[in-house]
Amino acid sequence: MPNECIFCRIAEGALPAQRVYQDEQAVAFPDLNPQAPTHILIVPRRHLASLAGATAADAGLLGHLVWVAAQVARAQGLDQTGYRVAVNTGREGGQAIEHLHLHLLGGRAMSGRLG
Ligand code: AMP
Ligand code: ZN
Repeated sequence: MPNECIFCRIAEGALPAQRVYQDEQAVAFPDLNPQAPTHILIVPRRHLASLAGATAADAGLLGHLVWVAAQVARAQGLDQTGYRVAVNTGREGGQAIEHLHLHLLGGRAMSGRLG
């Protein structure tokens, strides 16, 4: 685990974040620079740099993260209106932080465009 990794540090509690969900595998907290009225990041506690490096052994964790996104969306009251879950991956995917994270966006109508 790179100790300069900001999401590892948030996950281990070394950096503060307002956790809206946590369990043994994942932590969720609001994005610092929200792109929608609700913008929450879901991150695994284990350092995984990006979706591009995922292996078959990570499939359970990846499924869990998507489930957590749905749980958080429900807790935020977004399940009726809808929401978007996005995983930016790599340079052309717009990934700035190299610790896998899911963006949960809601509270406004999302554009039909994805990129
Ligand atoms: P990405 O471009 O997919 O790598 O997204 C990284 C996201 O992390 C951006 O939306 C940032 O606003 C967000 N971010 C960066 N630092 C923090 C932080 N300390 N706490 C919460 N969100 C952060
Ligand atoms: Zn990390």
